[in-house]
Amino acid sequence: EDITTDIVIVGAGGAGLSAAIEATNAGAKVVVVEKNAFMGGNTNYATGGMNAAGTKYQEAKGIQDSPALYYADTMKGGKDLNNPELLKVLTEKSAETLYWLESLGADLSEVGRSGGQSVDRIHKGPGGMPVGTHLMDVFGTQVETLGIEVKLNTKAVEILSEGNVVKGIKVENKDGNSYNINAKAVILASGGFGANPELVVKFKPELEGFGTTNAPGAKGDALAMVEKLDVSLTDIEQIQTHPTVVPRINEMITEGIRGDGAILVNHDGLRFIDELKTRDVVSKAILEQEGKTAFLVLDKQVYEKASTYEKYKNQGLLKEAQTLSELAGIMKVDATALEATVREYNEAVKAKSDVEFGRTSLDVELISAPYYAVEISPAIHHTMGGVTINTSTQVMNNSGVAVEGLFAAGEVTGGVHGGNRIGGNAVTDITVFGKIAGANAAAFVGK
Ligand code: ADP
Repeated sequence: EDITTDIVIVGAGGAGLSAAIEATNAGAKVVVVEKNAFMGGNTNYATGGMNAAGTKYQEAKGIQDSPALYYADTMKGGKDLNNPELLKVLTEKSAETLYWLESLGADLSEVGRSGGQSVDRIHKGPGGMPVGTHLMDVFGTQVETLGIEVKLNTKAVEILSEGNVVKGIKVENKDGNSYNINAKAVILASGGFGANPELVVKFKPELEGFGTTNAPGAKGDALAMVEKLDVSLTDIEQIQTHPTVVPRINEMITEGIRGDGAILVNHDGLRFIDELKTRDVVSKAILEQEGKTAFLVLDKQVYEKASTYEKYKNQGLLKEAQTLSELAGIMKVDATALEATVREYNEAVKAKSDVEFGRTSLDVELISAPYYAVEISPAIHHTMGGVTINTSTQVMNNSGVAVEGLFAAGEVTGGVHGGNRIGGNAVTDITVFGKIAGANAAAFVGK
């Protein structure tokens, strides 16, 4: 049975739900379709936090930041490939979007450091709780309170259109039955394609055989659906690996653990990189080590900074030892080398100067037992490329014309992150642009 609504949103992750909440609050009738039996997609896996510049929480800690500095860091991290207009929106709207999330019930008041940032800018969930878990709790409550219709087990398979004008979508439910959802506006928020090895290798052949941190639903369904509308794609070959993923089981260890003080050590027991370089740089450095893996090493003080780390231990990922020498035994690296490496690192922390590798985030000497280590290697993490949008989140075709009634936000889009996404920018991306998409789609349908 076909149904009719003002706006239909494809995907119930962070971008889709931000859009749904904003559009509903503007008075539009919204239907969200989600192919999985649950909401959240890759957003469920977001661990670190949300980057935002010039917030009251930074101010309270005496951190000097601005959208301009955030822009410069992100542009540098993205290898100057980022779309300047989209990046301007991301950085300038970051703080107000964080406050918007807090108005919905989120708590993002804790500030920390993440890779590629020149100041503490990543805003974390309460008690170091993974930010994605926290935000999906908040969004879930909003969906209930606002009465937003989310159709689970419902997969979008086609965008309905007449010429350059979008008319809704065709969906398929679990039993393979299909029907149309007629709508004046469609918002694509279906995420990336990091769990689609065929597409990944097609666009970046050197990632053949890599593991992935992605939710299984990140298959890039939207890319096929937009073809008939001649939609333009941006940076589609830009695919990021996350440096610290446990090999074979593909469990990601959050970048925040390095921001909190963990170091990277190779099989010779030696450090080899400033651990807080951007993901592309750190990934490349790990792939140059013996066995293409390395270890994260931390002590009790780092371990106690976030509840996630205890979870890693309970999952059997973090190995615990009472001394560095015992830890070296578990890691199968030379104990004397590991002890010397940690001693030198502690000297660098004391001196606030890491002469050898140039690490600037030097807060914690690794001196408190127990010590912990986990072996890691890079895996496919984020697809920076996707459909081309303008700053109003309208989807653009190859003639540079906006497809009428079609909007997109989140990992399905390209341009925001350029050639490399900075940790903490996915959450900013999905919420800033999700909210804009919701507002603009509502305005487009006359609400
Ligand atoms: P973002 O971070 O951009 O919000 P997520 O990965 O968190 O992206 O969310 C995207 C959601 O879209 C996932 O829950 C995924 O299962 C869903 N999805 C992907 N393709 C489809 C599709 N064809 N139909 C319905 N839902 C889809």
